[in-house]
This record gives sequence, structure tokens and C-alpha cells, in this order.
Amino acid sequence: MAITASEIETSLTGILARCHELSLRQHIGEDEADKVIGYFPVYFPEEIVHAAGLRPHALYGGGNRVEVRYADARIGSFVCSICRSTTELGLNGSLNGLGGFFAQPICDAAKHMAGIWGRNFPQQDPQILALPQNVNSAASVRYVYDEYQRLREILAQKIGHAITDDALRASLRVYNENRRLQRALYALKREDPARLSTVEAYLLIRAGTRFRREEHNELLRNALELLAARHIRPMDKPRVVFLGGFCEQPPLEMIETIEDVCFVVDDDLLIGQRWITEDVPEDGDPVWALAESYIQRSAASPVQFDARKRKEDVLMTMMREARAEAAIISAAKFCEPGLDDQLALSRWLDQEKIPYLVLEFEEKMTSFEQMAMQVETFAESLLFV
Ligand code: SF4
Repeated sequence: MAITASEIETSLTGILARCHELSLRQHIGEDEADKVIGYFPVYFPEEIVHAAGLRPHALYGGGNRVEVRYADARIGSFVCSICRSTTELGLNGSLNGLGGFFAQPICDAAKHMAGIWGRNFPQQDPQILALPQNVNSAASVRYVYDEYQRLREILAQKIGHAITDDALRASLRVYNENRRLQRALYALKREDPARLSTVEAYLLIRAGTRFRREEHNELLRNALELLAARHIRPMDKPRVVFLGGFCEQPPLEMIETIEDVCFVVDDDLLIGQRWITEDVPEDGDPVWALAESYIQRSAASPVQFDARKRKEDVLMTMMREARAEAAIISAAKFCEPGLDDQLALSRWLDQEKIPYLVLEFEEKMTSFEQMAMQVETFAESLLFV
């Protein structure tokens, strides 16, 4: 018997409610104590943690639900919110169960996170995973490979035995499937944004940061099946791409505000979860395959310079493939890499006479009325030119 439209909506609502609940979950449960490895964005090779039998836990800050009370005494006030609220989550005990913490030198603020963690939570053995600044160097794959082998060794010491190549290949298979499913979600969103909104795609992907990827794969498979059968009403809204969500995440309400009047047909939200854009080869040395993929099969973000990925070209390709007519260029407050890109892209969009809107956000924002007016005016200007 065919499943009805209301049964599809009920099932999707159930899946999305679970994803929302998981996305908000910050506390590491006692049942997971020391089995979870935390990492600060943007990208982290989760497969190595997965192969160790541990769970990677992406630290995307406290959103607009965590009040910063203790962190003010340990971190400057002119620092982006994700650094401050992540520190708060550490200090308020939510992350006591972490068995490890990794940060990367993606910017001045993030590179000090391992130091802040070391002073306050030395038992979590905080580390910096130094991914290369110059990915165009001939030595870059070797450099990433050596860092990944170091990570493999640190984790092996934690679990008391070596992480085998076979275990790593099995993890690559699980994550390759995850990447295929995430690509399918984004392809659907680009093709038919009325069928899958950006908020829905975001929740489906973000949920994967809170449980094992095998479970996440099952959740995405179920969701994709339901979405394919979803009944939709045609709507007339301008198609835009959204940039600025590569590290600190904008509040969901902000994306909802934009989606009230625009279709967001592509974006860089949670780009670290989608960093590797193709399957990682499952034969040969698995760590080399992962390191090579970081350089050769990867997305772009403001925190990495790559001469092969000019920012303007990345945006132009994104807009062309998503058939977008305009862009929303956003940046988190106090985020230097994001603001640098915002400036460069605004100049280019002016030059190319492509309509765009600049927005600033903070994860702890709670009021969206003024932003709603800006976005509505922008959408009207696109619809009625
Ligand atoms: S939001 Fe920007 S400034 Fe803050 S840690 Fe991320 S990249 Fe650095």
C-alpha cells in the first residue's frame, strides 16, 4: 500500500525533531565518558577516530542556548562567539566526558583554543592538529600524512592497541557512504529546494556530529527515501546561495528568516562535515588516501588558501551549478577570515553586477526582526526588478 502524503510528513517531522534534539545536545553522557574525542572546526579526519572505536564530537559552540558566565574570565571579549561558548561548555562541565580535544591553527582565535584547554582541562590532553597553510606545496600531502599518523598514534595510546589499516579502510567505507548520502541531500536541495529546505538539510547533517556514522547513514537513507516521495507545493522565491557558515554556525532562526522569502539553493554551512567532496580511495594506504583527499578532493573555505580555488571562482561555480541569481555573503562577528572574504567577494560581486546582501551574525543572536526586514527588501528587489 502506497504511503500517503501525511504519513510522509509525519515520518519526516519525527526524523527532523530527533535531529534537532541531537544537534542541541552538548552534554557528553557518562556512558560515553573518555570514548569521545572533541574537535574544533573546520575540518578533522574523523575516520581515524572512528577506526579507533571512539566517537568524534564536533564542537560547534553553544548556539543561542548557552549563557557565557565563566568563560569571560578565561578568554577575551573581542573573540568570536564559538570560541567563547565552547570554552563555557568546558567550564560548565558539559564536556567533562571528552577523552581528547583537538584544535587547528585556522585563525588567531582558534589556534589558542588548545592552549586555553590545556590550562583548564589538562586531563583531556589537548592537542593541535596542524594542517598545512600552503596546500599547493609539493610536500603538503606528506605533511598531512605525518600529522594523521601522529593522530593515529595518540589515539592508539588512548585505546591501548594499534589502529590497523583494515580498521581504517572499514571506516573509510562508512564515511564514503556518508559523503555520498550528504551529496545526494545537497543535490536534491539544489534541484528542488521546495522539497528540502536548508534548515532541514542542516539538521540532517548536523545530527551526524552526535552519533556513530553507521547510524547517521541509516538516518540519511530513510530521510532521502521519504524526501523523494514528498508532495510539494510550487513556490515562487528567488534562488540564492549563502556563504559564511564554515566555522561558527548562524542560529537556525536566521536561516529560517532567509528561507521565508528565498530559496537557499547552496551554502557553506558545516562545510567541515562535507569537506571531502568525492570518495576517498579504499585501496592502498588508508592514511595516505585520507591525506591526499584533504588536498585533492576537498571543498574551499576562508581558512585555507589554495591557489587552485580562487574565492570568486568558487562562488561563481556554486551559483552557476545551483542556478542562483544572487548571494548572501555573511560572516560571524569578530571572525577575521570570514570578514576578509566578505570584503573580497563583495567587491567582486559589485564588479560583476551580481545582486548580493551582506549580513553579520552571532551564534547567540535571538532577535531577527531587523534581519527579516533586510532580507524581505532584498528578496523583493530580486523579484520585481
Ligand atoms: S569563527 Fe572565525 S575567528 Fe572564530 S574560530 Fe572560526 S574561523 Fe576563527
